[in-house]
Amino acid sequence: MSLDKRLGQRFLPYGANYLDWSDMHELREAIEQGVLFRYQTEGESVASRLERRVAGRLGARHVLAVHNGTEALRLALISTRPRTGDLVHIPAVTFVAVAGAVLASGLVPVLVDVDESLSLDPGLLPPGTERVITAHMEGTVAPVPEGIPYVVEDCAQALGAVHPDGRHAGTAGYAGTFSFHHNKVLTSGEGGLVVTGDPEAWATMRCYHDHGSARVPGCYPAWNPDAHYGENFVTSEGVAAIQYQQFRHLDELLAGLERQHAIAMEELPDRRDLRVLPRAAGDVKISLRFRWESRELRDAAVAALTARGIANWTLGKYLLPEHPVITGRRSLYADGFPWSLAPDGPLMLSRDGFARTRDLLDRTLCVPLSPELSEQDQVLAVKALRQTLEAV
Ligand SMILES: *Cc1c(COP(=O)(O)O)cnc(C)c1O
Repeated sequence: MSLDKRLGQRFLPYGANYLDWSDMHELREAIEQGVLFRYQTEGESVASRLERRVAGRLGARHVLAVHNGTEALRLALISTRPRTGDLVHIPAVTFVAVAGAVLASGLVPVLVDVDESLSLDPGLLPPGTERVITAHMEGTVAPVPEGIPYVVEDCAQALGAVHPDGRHAGTAGYAGTFSFHHNKVLTSGEGGLVVTGDPEAWATMRCYHDHGSARVPGCYPAWNPDAHYGENFVTSEGVAAIQYQQFRHLDELLAGLERQHAIAMEELPDRRDLRVLPRAAGDVKISLRFRWESRELRDAAVAALTARGIANWTLGKYLLPEHPVITGRRSLYADGFPWSLAPDGPLMLSRDGFARTRDLLDRTLCVPLSPELSEQDQVLAVKALRQTLEAV
């Protein structure tokens, strides 16, 4: 396949995928065992091995594999034992799944404006804030606000990122959540993880994700006298096996992203009307982020890159204050639950009605990096990008 074709093809998937029969040892084992339910395997389940491996790699105390990142967020929220209608402060710029997880848990999202780096601005949080979800968007590490009892780090787009103090993203707050959706750093199609340092939180999440039970592997679920109701978010051995296999490639993938990012930072055009936004050492270098002087230039760059077959995207889709589910307070419940429990007044915190954020998003452009390419191909890809941007 030509390089152009390969680069164009990478539209959206953030990382690479390593789907290759010669590498699928864990899936092969799971199939050969003949059991795809994690609590009925003969030896240790692949799901449990995955959890141990992730815990070791990320320095997380407890890890639970679930179906997707949205369930992981829901588990983290529910494990805090909230009251229905409690507020959860979330970034105004993120994927709508964050708001969806809050609402589906019977809680009410409050959109908090973001700073220059597009991370939730902790300076806007009111005193007494109890629950916050921060999102490390496109691998950019967001700070964890201080003095808040429950901070959930949404690492759906930032598997492998590291905070400036050396802690792994996902382990610095109350809980961290990860996604293995098609469109993330690593993928098993769908798949999620929740991590926490709090053993009680982990026990609660483990029960809730398995019908509220206190399951002993190999046995029918049992319920403690103080059991609460739950749902079924128990992962399958098939998905866990693919997640495990993909996760084995994390360091290789991060190195491929770092290498192309370094090449790009050397090579990119020096234009007064175009800024390449800096990336911190601990960020996952999923994309190059550009900020143009005007929206018109940004749109011209989108057209030029697209015409050249170079994958790119913009971030306006993440502006939640304009999302119909939020603006229309939509709900499937006849009484509008849980919006019906929300306090009067706008559920948004911004210094300027999101004007600056809208302007930043209008001028921002992202181009994905391609960790799976050889160094030589990465250089060629960056050259093609440079030529295209110079001609805008
Ligand atoms: C993808 C994503 C999610 C949801 O993850 P799923 O596995 O698709 O449910 C949550 N938050 C952010 C920031 C995401 O990008």
